[in-house]
Order: sequence, then structure tokens, then C-alpha cells
Amino acid sequence: MQLQSKLPDVGTTIFTVMSSLAVQHNAVNLGQGFPDFAMNNELIALVNKAMQNGNNQYVHSNGLPVLREQIAAKYAKLYQSNIDAEKQITITPGGTYAIYTALTTVLQPNDEVIVFEPAYDSYIPNIVINGAKPVLISLAYPNYSIPWQEVKNKITAKTKMIIINSPHNPTGAVLTKQDIIELRNIVANTNIFILSDEVYEHLIFDDLQHQSILRYPDLLERSFVCFSFGKTYHCTGWKIGYCISSPTLMNEFRKVHQFNSFSIDSPKQFALAEYIQNEEAYLTLGKTMQQKRDYFRTLMQQTPFKIIPSHGSYFECYSYEGLSNLNDKDFAIYLTKNYGVATIPVSAFYKNGEDNKAIRFCFAKKESTLEKAVEKLALFKKDL
Ligand code: GLN
Repeated sequence: MQLQSKLPDVGTTIFTVMSSLAVQHNAVNLGQGFPDFAMNNELIALVNKAMQNGNNQYVHSNGLPVLREQIAAKYAKLYQSNIDAEKQITITPGGTYAIYTALTTVLQPNDEVIVFEPAYDSYIPNIVINGAKPVLISLAYPNYSIPWQEVKNKITAKTKMIIINSPHNPTGAVLTKQDIIELRNIVANTNIFILSDEVYEHLIFDDLQHQSILRYPDLLERSFVCFSFGKTYHCTGWKIGYCISSPTLMNEFRKVHQFNSFSIDSPKQFALAEYIQNEEAYLTLGKTMQQKRDYFRTLMQQTPFKIIPSHGSYFECYSYEGLSNLNDKDFAIYLTKNYGVATIPVSAFYKNGEDNKAIRFCFAKKESTLEKAVEKLALFKKDL
């Protein structure tokens, strides 16, 4: 059989590659982003309760109405937003799916999408599979801010969308109010859509404020904003997220969604509808996770790696400049095999493999896991 690949340049995602390598070499896995500590027991009990109560059949394709109402209530409280749960929110099987669906809803062949690199590795394949073209802009190393003048220069008549992601994966960079002003100026009086990946919305540190698009009703009119329960409630394997948009755009989003996954795990939606009312759970998350980041930072001082500070997400990148001549992919493999610690090479987030000799660590782990990893990394010997 002959098959013309729709994604000829795509291999296996780096997250699968590094997690498999970690298992193979029995390494501490600080690569793929997932917590290794237990999720909340009460939330687990609520799923059990929903199943026992017989909530095991399809719910509405847009998502369980009461969950959507609770999501709208959450953001009304957080940002004084006025979101119509019936028309503007759709529950999805994870944040990545929400992103894919938003891109598929909007993109026509030959459209251009502005993507900031390093970029989460699903964005570009999701654009390419829709026949559109990623227009790449590098975030300024090492603070990974957006070079807005370059964005202005790269806007053309074909620009259909701009993807933003704050807090940012893999760098942990966070957008500021000034960034939002720049963005607003660029899209004003254009037909450019925004895709805002906010899956790390509550993982924000150092007293910074998350600049959600939901704070800006004028921008929400042209945006798809994507979220993840997995990141907020330490259950990445549940694969449940949601997308918020304007009523008109969401109507189109749902046309794509209904013939893809159709609907999402019912018992978990019932459980989340109840648990989301516990504000403490998400309001304290930034503080808890910052403690982990800070603990990891302190431990990492025992190693020769140089920090590239993050302010959000559950990642922090470190430079190995001057420690090895290997490219970052080979270096990540070398660290896994020889020192027993798996990480993610940052070049995996660049289409053309730009290599700043940086690797990403996930610190959403038990203290004992972080200690075990750093104990191994402290043994690192220069390899030049
Ligand atoms: N978002 C997670 C990360 O960046 C991984 C998700 C995935 O494996 N697809 O590590």
C-alpha cells in the first residue's frame, strides 16, 4: 500500500521518546510534564460517586451543562468576565485537542499562522495538517519575550491567526499587560484570530498576574482560549480540558468537535462540576508549585547547570553551555543513559531545531523525586 504522508516531517513526539528512554534506563523522569504525586482524593471519590449514581452515558456533545455553568461562574469571579456557558464553552478531551480543534475550525489552505518559538510541539503539525503555513518568530533568548516589532513586520494579508501561550511551555515565561496592549494594537481592525493556550493558567509565580484573554472581552471576540483540568488538578491522564470563545466562533468549533470525539468522559465531568466550586484548590496552586520550583532551584545549585529562570508553568530550563559539545537532543539522551535523569531538549520546540544548549526540567514532582534527580545530576562531569 502506498500512503502519501500528511505529516512527512513529523516523527514521534519528544515526550514519548524521552519517557520511553527514561523507563528503559530506569531514570528519574523530569522530562514529560506530569506530576508524580497523588491527586486529590475527594475528586477521585466524586468520580466514583458519579459512576455509582449511574452517570455513565453520553452527556451533551458541548459538555455537561452544569460543568460549563460552573466554569463560567469561576471566571466571572476571577476576571469579572461575562461568559455564556450555553454558547461559549465546550468541554474537550484535553487542552491539546482543544488547540487542534480551534486551528481546524479556522484554517484554510495557505493561511499563515504566527507561532512563537520555542513552541509546544503540537502547534506546527496542527497547522500543517490543515494545509496552512506556520510563520515562525523566535522569542528573545534568554528571557523569551515576544519581539513585537518583528510580529508587525511578519503580518501579511494571509495572516489568519496568532498563537500565544502564557505561562509558556517550555520556558515558563509569562505575558505582561504590555504584551496584551501590543497584541491588541496589532490585531485591531484586522481579521486575525488569536489562539491562547492557557493550560498553565494557575501555575504562575513571583506574584505575577495571569493575563488571561478572558479579562479582555474585545479580544475574546476573536479568540479561542484553551484550558486543561489535567494541569490544574494533577490528573494529566484524565485528558479533560475546555475551550472558551465568542458565541459565533464557538458555533463553528462545535461543528468540528461533534464529529471528532463527540462527547467527553461523563463521570469525570460530574465530579469536576462539583469540585471546581472549591476555589482554594486552584487559588493555592501557584503557591504550592512555586515552593516546588524554589526547592528545585536550591537543589540545582549543587550542579553545574545554569538556570534560565521561569515564572510559571511546571517547567524550568537550564543551560549546559560550556559543559558539553553535544547538541541538546544528544545531551538529553546522554544524561538519561549515563546519569539516570530524563529531561526534554528545548530544540524539540523549534521547527528548525534551534539549539541554545538548554534542557527543560519538570519540577512538578515529589521532593524525594527532585532530590533523587539532583543527587545524580550533581555527579555530572564536564564532557568537552
Ligand atoms: N504538556 C506536556 C509537556 O509539555 C506533555 C503532553 C504530551 O506528552 N503530549 O510535557
